[in-house]
Amino acid sequence: MVHDLELISVGKTYPDGTVAVSDFDLKVEKGEFVAFLGPSGCGKSTTLRMIAGFEHITNGDVLMMGQNVTDVPPEKRPTSMIFQNYALFPHMSVRENVAFGLDVKGAPKTERDRKVDRILDMFDLERFADRKADKLSGGQRQRIALARGLVVEPEILLLDEPLGALDANLRRIIQNELKLLQRELGITFIFVTHAQSEALGLSDRVVVMSNGVVEQISPPRDLYRRPRTPFVAEFIGSNTVFEGIPKGAADKGFGRIETPFGLIEGVGLGNESLAVVPAEAFRITPQNTPGEIRFEGRLAERKLVGAVGHLKVRLSEDREIAVEVSADRPEVRALELGAPITLGVDPASVTLIHT
Ligand code: ADP
Repeated sequence: MVHDLELISVGKTYPDGTVAVSDFDLKVEKGEFVAFLGPSGCGKSTTLRMIAGFEHITNGDVLMMGQNVTDVPPEKRPTSMIFQNYALFPHMSVRENVAFGLDVKGAPKTERDRKVDRILDMFDLERFADRKADKLSGGQRQRIALARGLVVEPEILLLDEPLGALDANLRRIIQNELKLLQRELGITFIFVTHAQSEALGLSDRVVVMSNGVVEQISPPRDLYRRPRTPFVAEFIGSNTVFEGIPKGAADKGFGRIETPFGLIEGVGLGNESLAVVPAEAFRITPQNTPGEIRFEGRLAERKLVGAVGHLKVRLSEDREIAVEVSADRPEVRALELGAPITLGVDPASVTLIHT
């Protein structure tokens, strides 16, 4: 199968010796929405710029539609890039800004005008066509940047923190529009963000990066449910990571580790030494349910936020864990700070990983 985009062991070392990205492997199917997620400085933008062709690749190859484009200049690639600050020309009109993308790709004038008109219409921007880009709101500028990126009819749209400059409300609105647009056009989107909710909410798959290295590539749900590295377990969601000694396999697909809080069973082989428990996997359970892992502690903190009760439970002198339960349950409301509390966890929601 030919992929829209394939990165084969792509790496980037800047001239000053900074290793920004190493051995990045990725295959993206047509119409997929892939997010690069990670803390600032982990190499997301560098990777995106290498895909666009703005950044020279130190090692590895970039393939698009099965063709090696590693040495192909940006304007000859089937890509288009949307920058965080939109990179609009303030003194050029909306129409000129949108046409710019086609000018760079060397489109003939009549074709250019036809395509610009069509995209302005699609984005409901005709009314502003002759207005200067600096006389528009943030949301409108965002739309122009999108229109400029899409007018060249790219196979792959590259978006570098495209919503970073918007306030929270507008961000939500444009997130929805972006997702609808992507579905409608069927274009492959590669989206860079350091905002977890954005990556998890928008994309089909998330590439989690840290320090220039790919930690995990998974659909959002799997990142939550089955983190594969300690970094992902700490970075995504709200997990407790217990350290222990591998104790071998249990039932099929399950392993066990011995921790200071008892034997913990979870999905794994049993040769791992960390157990990851999501905050929402804990149940407050007065009864002993067979097969469940049990933890005894005391309630250290309780915050009710809407329907969710965020608890801190102290398991020992120096160990406090995050627990999320439904705030509606009477036993959650009745709990008093300092009161003893018994937690139960189903081993199926625990993931064993290596350090
Ligand atoms: P992110 O997009 O995840 O914030 P970047 O790709 O911008 O990360 O940066 C990755 C690493 O490369 C960082 O350590 C950053 O300081 C470094 N870096 C980025 N651009 C340059 C450059 N032009 N020269 C040297 N180092 C750079």
